[in-house]
Amino acid sequence: MDESCSEDLLLRRAGSKGLGVFAARSFAPGEHVLTFGGERLPHGEIADFTHTIQVDEEHFLGPSGGVDDYVNHSCEPTCQVRAVRGGLELVARRVLEAGDEVTFDYSTCLVLEPPMSHCSCGSADCRRRVVSFWELAPGWRRRYLLQGAVPGFVVRSRAVLRPAARRAEERATRRVQRAQRRG
Ligand SMILES: [Zn+2]
Repeated sequence: MDESCSEDLLLRRAGSKGLGVFAARSFAPGEHVLTFGGERLPHGEIADFTHTIQVDEEHFLGPSGGVDDYVNHSCEPTCQVRAVRGGLELVARRVLEAGDEVTFDYSTCLVLEPPMSHCSCGSADCRRRVVSFWELAPGWRRRYLLQGAVPGFVVRSRAVLRPAARRAEERATRRVQRAQRRG
């Protein structure tokens, strides 16, 4: 398959990953590559997360039917997400030449459990698993935060996760205390 989608982007096979999106011309670092489309859906209403992307604390964009549905994950991505009104766009992280695959790191916009967890991006630094942003190693998180590759809702989600972690710790403490009282 070598289907021309626009003057800018091309949809074609990306090896074992299935379809992928490729640059049809060169892009400068920071240049807009595409905007994610699709219906805005609450997390709880989605049964199949294929071709969806998280855009805020509780919402995903469903499949759009366009090329943006086919952007693959990479642990060494060529693009990164940027928040736009009600959604996300992709911008180039470096110079993209015609023929380069358009990819981004799914973990940079995942707060909730990832819909897909196995990674076969093939990069030298491949983490093998796609995890939520807060499960990334601190070095990866710091790099992406400094590069502005993490949307605000993901950064703010830290405040949500901390009380949850605290509650889990409190439950564990109570279990130990109950065991001690019984013993
Ligand atoms: Zn990978």
